[in-house]
Order: sequence, then structure tokens, then C-alpha cells
Amino acid sequence: MEAKAIIPWSPTRAATLAACAQRYALQYVVGAKARITPQDKPARWLGKQGRWRAPMDCTVMISREVLRLRLQDANEGTVWSEAVVRGEFSRRLKKTLDTQFDDQERLARRMGWNRTPQRRVTKVRFEKLVEEGMKRLLSAEKHPLLARLLKSPKDIEWMVPNQFHTFEANGARLYSAPDLIIREGRKWRLVRISGDVMKVKPAPVKAIEMDTMLLWAERAEGLPNGAHRFKLSRFGWERGKWKVWTQKGSKRSRENASELVRNDIQAMRHAKRQMGPAMDIDRLPFAESEWRCRECPYRWNCQGFNNPKGSRLNQEIRERRLADSWKNAVKKVQNALQEE
Ligand code: SF4
Repeated sequence: MEAKAIIPWSPTRAATLAACAQRYALQYVVGAKARITPQDKPARWLGKQGRWRAPMDCTVMISREVLRLRLQDANEGTVWSEAVVRGEFSRRLKKTLDTQFDDQERLARRMGWNRTPQRRVTKVRFEKLVEEGMKRLLSAEKHPLLARLLKSPKDIEWMVPNQFHTFEANGARLYSAPDLIIREGRKWRLVRISGDVMKVKPAPVKAIEMDTMLLWAERAEGLPNGAHRFKLSRFGWERGKWKVWTQKGSKRSRENASELVRNDIQAMRHAKRQMGPAMDIDRLPFAESEWRCRECPYRWNCQGFNNPKGSRLNQEIRERRLADSWKNAVKKVQNALQEE
């Protein structure tokens, strides 16, 4: 029997699948983040078809990236000046915005459009975005959780784990490392840095997602055994301020995390099976709620956005036909068996 493929799991992958199976496939199964050989250009391009994040979303994502880099360097003894923070942030933001605009130009050429769906960000807008990002980065220096760490203290035990440190469990490769670990007496705090959040206190399913850091911690070297030895914190930007929400680790929360991952992996395998060997994304359902399409980076080419009612109706018809043809095939086999 063929061994089951190892499926990568991360909170972002799981959330994407829950929001829209087509988007999940474009992003992680056939797209830019999928493991595709360099020869397989059309499939790789599929994942980059004018993928566009709103410039403000890029700002939030990059300020989180730069904050992690600062923490990493502070942990190794290097403290960044404000000028270095600004330089690094501006460079990364510009590169991201330029790259996605180039992708849009390529998309417009390929589709024969006379202009790109999105305009290039103007200089004035770019400066405003830099200020937005800097507001987050400088304000982190004043927050009690990070203020001392960013000054590279020698009397605190803390670390910034590698985000790509994964482990395998139950047929999945898990990306669930925390962004930061701090020792606080007999307990260890595992911190996940979120971008902008409506409320730093997560919804129940997101809180279980935070518990998946426990699964990582129990395999990491140098950390204690037992979920009760950990606190799990979410550090998020809520309405103009960094805030922290914390829950205690427990045997129960560890089990919940494990079950969540198991269910997600089943759903991911199911999506792959639905696509079939030809990796046909059209067999996957569109997002149930149309509002999800409004911010989706793949909306330029997706019928789920361009023809929301028609595409969902057609899909329903296709599914019914498929179900009927299966029923008929089963009936034929049953009749043939009875006649024998
Ligand atoms: S546009 Fe909508 S249906 Fe299409 S991939 Fe994005 S979220 Fe899914």
C-alpha cells in the first residue's frame, strides 16, 4: 500500500482551508508555496497569478517580520537603532510592493488587459505606510513584554525559535513554533506575535490554535516536560496598541490542540483527494461567503469573485451530476451482480 503523503500544517494553512478550499489549493497545493519542481513553470505561475495583498496588509505583515528580526538580533546581542529599523522596514516593504505589482503586470499582459487591476503605490502613500509600520515597531519598544528584551538583556533566559523548525506527527509536518520563549520562574511563556487583531483575546478556535505551540514545545530541546509548565500568550496590535492575552497550558489544552490538527489534516487530505490526480482546482468549492473573495489575492482570475452567483450554482449542478453518475454506476453494478 502506498504511504500517505506528509501534509504540512500551520495555523495559516488551516485558516485558509476553512475560508476557501480553492484559495488553499492555489496557495499551498499548486501555488507559490507548494513544492513544485523548477521545470513545472505553468503550475508555479498559477500560484502567482497577480496575487495581490492590500498595501496595508503588507505593512502589517512586514512590521511583524521586522519585529521578529529585531528580537532575533537582540537575543544574539545586537540592538537596532531607529534608523536601522526604518531602513529595514522600508526596504522590505518596497520589495514586496514592487514584486506584487510586477506580478500584476504579467497577469495583465497574459490576459490582454490594457491596464493592471491595481495601481502602483504612490510615493506619498508609501511614506504613509512606512509611518504606519514604524508606529507598530517603535511602540513595541515601550510594551512591558518586549521593552527589556529589545535591549538585549543578559539576566533573562529567552529565545527566538526558528519559525521553520517543524516536526512530524500523525502524518503531518507541523509549523507551530512560537515567535518567542521567555522563562518566568518555573514557568515558560510561549508567545505568538499576531498582526492587527480586532480583539487580542482570540475566538475559541483560535485559542486552541495557540495551544499547538505546546505540541512544538514538547519536542523542543531544553524545555520542560508537561503542558502545565507553560503559559501561552498572544501579542497583537488592537486598535492602535500592542496588547497581550495569556492562557495557561494544561493536559486538556494539549489534547485539544492535537485533535484540532488531526481534524485539519483530514480536511486537507480530503481537499487533495477531491482535486484528483490531475490536481484540478475546479473540483473544489468556492468560499461559502462572498465577502471572503473581496480581499482574496486570487480574485482577479477566480470565478468565485467574478461571477459569484453563477459560479456557485454551476458548481452545485456539477456536484449533483457527479453524485447522480455515481449512483447510476453503483446501480448498474448491483443489477449486473443480481443478474449473474
Ligand atoms: S476569490 Fe473567493 S472563491 Fe476564489 S479563491 Fe478567493 S476566496 Fe476562494
